[in-house]
Amino acid sequence: MEHGKFAYLDWAATAPLCFEAARAMAPYLQGGPDSITSQGNANSLHTVGRRAFSAMEDARASLASSLRCRPDELFFTAGATESDNTAIFGIVSAAVKARRAKGEPAFVPHVVSTAIEHEAVLKPIEELKRRGAQVTLIKPDTGGFVTAQQVESAMKHNTVLVSVMAANNEVGSLQPIAQCADAAHAGGALFHTDAVQALGKVAFACRDLGIDAASFSAHKIAGPKGTGALFLRKGTPCEPYLLGGGQESGMRSGTQNVSGMVGFAAAAAACTSDAALSSEVERLRGMRDELYRFLCSHRSVHSSVPCAPGSTDYLPNVVNVTVDGLESETMVLRLDREGVQVSGGSACSSKSLAPNRILAELGIPRDLALGALRISMGRYTTEEDIARFKAAFRSLMEWAGLD
Ligand code: PLP
Repeated sequence: MEHGKFAYLDWAATAPLCFEAARAMAPYLQGGPDSITSQGNANSLHTVGRRAFSAMEDARASLASSLRCRPDELFFTAGATESDNTAIFGIVSAAVKARRAKGEPAFVPHVVSTAIEHEAVLKPIEELKRRGAQVTLIKPDTGGFVTAQQVESAMKHNTVLVSVMAANNEVGSLQPIAQCADAAHAGGALFHTDAVQALGKVAFACRDLGIDAASFSAHKIAGPKGTGALFLRKGTPCEPYLLGGGQESGMRSGTQNVSGMVGFAAAAAACTSDAALSSEVERLRGMRDELYRFLCSHRSVHSSVPCAPGSTDYLPNVVNVTVDGLESETMVLRLDREGVQVSGGSACSSKSLAPNRILAELGIPRDLALGALRISMGRYTTEEDIARFKAAFRSLMEWAGLD
């Protein structure tokens, strides 16, 4: 059944383009022969190229101010998957080269991360392992948290990189990033964080956290898809991942996506200001708490994590529950028929029927993890959307004969 208006509650998968980003990008997306005046190659020497270059550098400066870092510490990419891959392969490769150059030809690197990272971090780490690196994946507790002490205990003489996500995309647990970065540094390693889900939902200042690298994605904060950024603290050794024309100071070759950069910067400015964060976070947290209360008033529904009302240990916009007696896919499709979009797992793995990997890591039994439901909200989510979800969920439970 098609609905004119959706109650879209899958913002952790992707967000609609915000008005600010759309407005900023419009001049870069017109068609026809005259549109080249705003759509040049930022590396061309002529007027058209120089215009694109200055739009790109303005976007970099604006994004750097939103992320609290220097413009020359930011490298634009085609999304957080690329940022994560660049940071992980690039930092490890630079460290190995340095150690080998110092007379350790057989140096084997060790990488520490967590078992609940996104695939964009886990897969490159698996690949490093396949190539001979040592890997330690820290297990979270049942609330979805890891600690700096766990990082400290995992460190070895050959640890070159620690990567811990700032906020988990499935259950919303926020990790102690500054403390984990300290533990990594104390053990002689560099520290990277995947900050995709944290940006715009909690305060995130690169320079205050003591981190060496961080990955960001535009489309999770209502910017355009296919645009991301990698923060690399000035002087952090990192080998480029994409080789070619040497754009982005040699860190990321490829003709720059100026409209994407402009849209990313506008979306970040709109959601990271102190004023935007404080009012929005409170509003989202209120809806999150209301959803947990409503869902857990059903006997067959269990909260996946102990997220107490008002809790600041979890993202304000993510709710995760399991429904005993229903599979995620069935719920997602039936709610969709009512015009309500939610997720059963992360978007990239939601087509498989395996139990939710993150919930399994939290110790949730397989049968329950098969019935995972994630509801995630953003700046355009309204109380009306929540009411629509509740009505659709009630009819789903009635249909399934559950209470
Ligand atoms: N990291 C996290 C935590 C994510 O949630 C996602 C997207 O689902 C990514 C990385 C990948 O981001 P992108 O879609 O920009 O490649």
